[in-house]
Amino acid sequence: RDVADVDAHVSVCRACPRLVAWRESVATTGRRASFANQPYWGRPGPGFGDAAPRVLVVGLAPAANGTNRTGRLFTGDRSGDWIYAALHRAGYANQPESVAAGDGLELIGLRIVSAVRCAPPANRPTPEERRTCGQWLDRELALVAPGLRSMLALGAIGWEAALASARRLGWDVPRPRPRFGHGAEVLLRAADGHRVRLLGSYHVSQQNTFTGRLTEEMLDEVVARL
Ligand code: SF4
Repeated sequence: RDVADVDAHVSVCRACPRLVAWRESVATTGRRASFANQPYWGRPGPGFGDAAPRVLVVGLAPAANGTNRTGRLFTGDRSGDWIYAALHRAGYANQPESVAAGDGLELIGLRIVSAVRCAPPANRPTPEERRTCGQWLDRELALVAPGLRSMLALGAIGWEAALASARRLGWDVPRPRPRFGHGAEVLLRAADGHRVRLLGSYHVSQQNTFTGRLTEEMLDEVVARL
């Protein structure tokens, strides 16, 4: 089994009734007017990037008119503009933009996943939905763990998901549970004994980037430490 196999299974998951109903209603009758003539993916957003990465980025969840439309994480919305531009500046992406699946974007040594893989209403998954979707992060993290050197959690939900998954996989995670913050850093020990650095960044959502809570310089500083 490999991450492609996980992707295939994720993309047809229907474990969360509320999220299945939401993702499909946005994709059919709830399309944003400017995308009304475009096809919508309307399914979970599988992981994207290197299948054997040194770095794993854990975001929050797909955007209703972003990934839920394009089928690729952080693609076709303002959040994607920020994260892929930063990854390109640091050498992890071959281009700074991510407008549509099939646009030639490739990630180098890095993979992006989300804590919750279906678009949630108001970008707020419930605790139960977060727990349910954690199974996918567990499977993906277990597969990429041998070559992994660091993880970047975008936002508190990504941070909590990464730590919870690491614990379930038997990794050594400091207690009490390390707290999220922009620039937070903790060293984890994977099940095979090697160390994996977990870094936190404010999420690249518009409520952070439009308000100046997260600047390009702040994001670059964290990405440079990966
Ligand atoms: Fe499945 Fe995750 Fe989507 Fe729930 S959020 S339906 S577990 S892919």
